[in-house]
Amino acid sequence: MVPDVTSDPLAWLDDHAATRVTAGLRRQLRPRAAGSPALDLASNDYLGLTRHPEVRAGAIEAVRRWGAGSTGSRLVTGTTTDHELLEGELAEFTGFPAGLVFSSGYAANLGAVTALAGRGSLIVSDAGCHASLVDACRLSRARVAIAPHRNSTAVARLLADRSEEHALVLTDSVFSADGDLAPLTELHRVVRDHNALLLVDEAHGLGVRGHGGRGLVQETGLAGEPDVIVTVTLSKALAAQGGAVLGDERVRAHLIDTARTMIFDTGLAPAAVGAARAALRILRRDPGLGPRVLARAADIARIAGVAAPDSAVVPIILGDPQTAHDAAHTCREQDVEVGCFRPPSVPEGTSRLRLTARADLTPADLDTLTKVLVPVLTHARNSTTVPA
Ligand code: PMP
Repeated sequence: MVPDVTSDPLAWLDDHAATRVTAGLRRQLRPRAAGSPALDLASNDYLGLTRHPEVRAGAIEAVRRWGAGSTGSRLVTGTTTDHELLEGELAEFTGFPAGLVFSSGYAANLGAVTALAGRGSLIVSDAGCHASLVDACRLSRARVAIAPHRNSTAVARLLADRSEEHALVLTDSVFSADGDLAPLTELHRVVRDHNALLLVDEAHGLGVRGHGGRGLVQETGLAGEPDVIVTVTLSKALAAQGGAVLGDERVRAHLIDTARTMIFDTGLAPAAVGAARAALRILRRDPGLGPRVLARAADIARIAGVAAPDSAVVPIILGDPQTAHDAAHTCREQDVEVGCFRPPSVPEGTSRLRLTARADLTPADLDTLTKVLVPVLTHARNSTTVPA
């Protein structure tokens, strides 16, 4: 057939968009205006450090010293002495021998997984793992088996039944949509019994769980174990941008040799390095920050009438995507910024508001939340079927 050269080459995008509108799944960017009065209960700024004077000063000082960009990939010109200091400080804080910084948590996960598992190896991944780990599995070319959520018995079975020599088990420590915790003790036992490695994504655990915010891996007593590898983001509790992999020195050396998202990506910008180092200093000084996040999350859950969470994440399941969208919209109209998760980020029928706690929330903030959220939830719960 001769192609119709007059036809609109992007018409199929309109069809896709129409389908998403009908399903209540259209997504929109909503730029924040500087100085916006909104009460933020949607961000990942768990410790409230993004605007902290010391964190800003850390970023500014690094820009003064190094300039705006890192100028090259890590192996060429993109590693400054500050990158190496940050790596050492992150490793020391979390209890691992070595660290390697990436330009995002996403890149850290892609780099670590694809370097540690490839053709001829097995990856066993929790069904609730973050999208970056899902994408990492796809890129790795390993055989991928998805284990039911938080089910270490299923992980053991999959590892026992394998024919591959190398196996890597993937889990988030704190799952991002539900805020629930991985069974790390059991997973580590299983990994050890079956001669595999365990990679734990601590994006939502660092700064919140563990002694002084050292993460759930530290809390579980697994920090420094040679068969455990941790990935973190610098963009949540550490108030900056970037990611890191923490583990044995041999893991770091292997990633420097093979992790494509480090080798072929420009090094992390100096401002982010400086900001993350400053945030880490603050966290060391104030070990109460993590517990305060959990206490504020419990306050938010009480206001919302849902169970107290184990992390900063408070999910409020509403079921229907449009109901969740409308509820979030009504909160925003009243200057309360809340998250709204719909498929494919969460399973069908579990669309939700997702509120996140910050260590610096005040009693006045919680009063505001009560005034806005309670009527919104009453309305939403009357107009939707909440799954059992
Ligand atoms: N892992 C998890 C569990 C996350 O929630 C995120 C960010 N949403 C990432 C990894 C990616 O981190 P970054 O934003 O630094 O790329």
